[in-house]
Amino acid sequence: MEAHLREHRDGQLEWLEWSDGDLNVAFSTRRGGVSDGCYESLNVGFAVGDDSVRVRRNRELLCAAVGVALDDLVVPAQVHGKHIRAIGSGDRGRGALSPQTAVPNTDGLVTNVPGVPLAVGYADCLAVVVAAHEAGGCAGLALVHAGWRGLMDGIVARAVRRVWEYGPADFALIGPSIGSCCFVVDEALAMRFAERFGAEVVTNLADGWHVDLWGCAVGELRASGVASEAIDVAGICTSCDARFYSHRRDRGATGRQAAIAWIGPRRRSV
Ligand SMILES: [Zn+2]
Repeated sequence: MEAHLREHRDGQLEWLEWSDGDLNVAFSTRRGGVSDGCYESLNVGFAVGDDSVRVRRNRELLCAAVGVALDDLVVPAQVHGKHIRAIGSGDRGRGALSPQTAVPNTDGLVTNVPGVPLAVGYADCLAVVVAAHEAGGCAGLALVHAGWRGLMDGIVARAVRRVWEYGPADFALIGPSIGSCCFVVDEALAMRFAERFGAEVVTNLADGWHVDLWGCAVGELRASGVASEAIDVAGICTSCDARFYSHRRDRGATGRQAAIAWIGPRRRSV
């Protein structure tokens, strides 16, 4: 299914957005920030060697543009694991201004509290949003950072299970991330993917074994009870598309873009 992501721009700052009014999702690009060098320019990651003052400024710019308060943003300290933490009002602002206060050792956040924006950072990995709606409103939301290890370990299925605690999981969105065009692995890893997700996620081409991580995530979502027609895939490869940071294309020397998701209306400053 084609994603209904819309491109937005505010001065130099560019991002992608999805909204049904009550559920809001934004994916940043690398454009419109204050970092330079390999972090140019909207790097939101503290852990990649960039100047932390600039990272904070980039987060301020991004939050103002997409319509959330940076002071409310909840950010995990990601470890390519499978843990998902429930987030409440008392967690507002954790990890927003400093990595020291981030939600430790977690790659997924789930909440049913309106106005608590969840965020993850990534550069090729998948950012996956899963949500439940009841009585016309968003009843629960999960946001996970899923690299190939997280996918293998089932973090996407775990996110769906957590969302089902709030209501029927009836929405999923896979953001910009590395496509099968660019995710080439050795044969041994390709075989592990084929065994875990089915032979159709692996293709052997002249330049090596290509793995379709979007297909892996979609398969996991469907197997967890999310209807096919409820799953949106952005279909944007971060390695091909120069608007995004790509760990693989940039050979590790790069920044991080953010996925931000929240329940409730945006607080647009303009
Ligand atoms: Zn690509």
